[in-house]
Amino acid sequence: MPDCQPQRRGSTVTEMSTKLIERGARIRRTKWVELSCMLCGEAVATLEGGTLLRPRTASSARISGARVVCGRCGGSLSPTDQGERVHFV
Ligand SMILES: [Zn+2]
Repeated sequence: MPDCQPQRRGSTVTEMSTKLIERGARIRRTKWVELSCMLCGEAVATLEGGTLLRPRTASSARISGARVVCGRCGGSLSPTDQGERVHFV
């Protein structure tokens, strides 16, 4: 599974982007946090930039009051993985 080594993948991205900055390339970095259900383990959504919530599928997340919960079982979400995505501009 490619998701097993997030830390190694993250450091590779950081090294790459550092080299590109030295050459003058312009990039934009977006921090992301993956949210999964604490009860059923479903990968529910990705939170980008601290404000933009992207559900994994149209029905994977739902709003319960002021909170976002698992669309399958209604369980609470917890962050399981995080990193930084690099966009070239
Ligand atoms: Zn669930």
